[in-house]
Amino acid sequence: MLVDTHCHLHRQEFDLDREAVIARAKEAGVGLLLDPATDLASNRIVVDLASRTPEVYAAVGLHPHDAQELTSAALEELTALAARPKVVAIGEIGLDYYRELTPREVQKEALRKLLRLAHALNLPVILHCREGETQTSSGSDAYRDLFAVLRECLTPPIKGLLHCFAGDAQVAAQAAELGLYLSFAGNLTFTKADGLRAVAKEIPFDRVLLETDAPFLAPQAYRGKRNEPAYLTELVNRWAQIQDLTPEDVARVTTVNAYTLFGIGPAPAPGQIAYPIRRSLYLNLTNACTDRCVFCALSTKDFWAGKGTAPIVKGHHLRIPRDPTVEEILAAAGDPGGYEEVVFCGYGEPIIRLKVLLEVARRLKAKGAKWVRLNTNGHGNLIHRRSVAQELKPVVDQVSVSLNTPDAQQYLEICRPVFGLKTYDSIKVFIRECRDAGLKVVATAVAMPGVDVEAVRRVAAEELKVEYRIRTHNDLG
Ligand code: SF4
Ligand SMILES: [Zn+2]
Ligand SMILES: [Zn+2]
Repeated sequence: MLVDTHCHLHRQEFDLDREAVIARAKEAGVGLLLDPATDLASNRIVVDLASRTPEVYAAVGLHPHDAQELTSAALEELTALAARPKVVAIGEIGLDYYRELTPREVQKEALRKLLRLAHALNLPVILHCREGETQTSSGSDAYRDLFAVLRECLTPPIKGLLHCFAGDAQVAAQAAELGLYLSFAGNLTFTKADGLRAVAKEIPFDRVLLETDAPFLAPQAYRGKRNEPAYLTELVNRWAQIQDLTPEDVARVTTVNAYTLFGIGPAPAPGQIAYPIRRSLYLNLTNACTDRCVFCALSTKDFWAGKGTAPIVKGHHLRIPRDPTVEEILAAAGDPGGYEEVVFCGYGEPIIRLKVLLEVARRLKAKGAKWVRLNTNGHGNLIHRRSVAQELKPVVDQVSVSLNTPDAQQYLEICRPVFGLKTYDSIKVFIRECRDAGLKVVATAVAMPGVDVEAVRRVAAEELKVEYRIRTHNDLG
């Protein structure tokens, strides 16, 4: 199911066929619609529309164009409306220096008041921000002012969505620092939007939401026409291309993101044993690990409580209540033949369950698995007190080993292994033995502050003579 997190269904453009528009959206898989108010009068309309339409949720606020409408009586009315059922956010609010229909100071003051309202009601915010045509030398006045007002009124991480994003990579990074989600409308699909797509490519997908901004900004295929939520599928396909994901991945991740931010739609189901991403089938054998990496969700209380985003990887909830059996894993995996590879990789260290791993790999190979990869911390020899490479060889094609640091001392500090300082040298022995056994071996490092990834590359390439890959911090799967 898809969620259109920003469509102005209440507008008069839909007065003649609103029900048909919602029916077409559902037919296209767009099951939930979030309609943010714009001017003061529209607030009553969106709340009313949401109250009598199961698929529609509302956001209450004032668009910066209408910021002068925010009298104290209006604020009182918005406060009352925001408490109504199915109001899930304050929005859209923000700054618009493009049309500048209201003086900037008035926009900022209204924004402050509405951010404080969101804080008081513990609701996320839907932010609109548009640059003026002429900017000062700092490059982006509206985003700079928006971020300053946000920091003034709220404490990061801020629960909010910066909608219809049109900033550059630097602005996207600043938004991420504040904890904001981003969404792009049909502008992402425009023929001349290569620059915007380059920005979108680098955004971690666990921060992305889908929106049409209907009736505005129809995607390229419908450009010039009235936009409507059913056209969200154009965005899904475009995101799949940009982020090298499948449309199913895009739908799953963005729907989980909508749940995480707005609390609408289905909660991600915990306990995923087998989880597809792209053309790979991942298997989650255990949540136990012999490392406690500082950057890993396993090091957080939320993971063990199964709460928030900690256990979620590309829309899959990987907190499992107990280690699954061979039969449970095979049942969850289904037919492996349709995937390019089967990957033993979850939250936890799969090689702890070596016997199960070998049995599952053997049976999946027999069922047509084309390639089997093991993602491991490389502690196999220490865990099992013997060399395990020869046991892996018959059923595993590739091992990806998290080497992470260029030396034992830093490994101890960042990965905090239960085996202490000797762990790093044992990982190197494991890598050599897998290489000599004829497995494809890739050593990896997570790019994180303080780690000399070039030095890790030298250890992998020159000392261990294996391939090397840098993994992005916080981007799993
Ligand atoms: S080795 Fe992997 S699963 Fe274990 S703590 Fe580190 S990142 Fe997490
Ligand atoms: Zn907007
Ligand atoms: Zn809008």
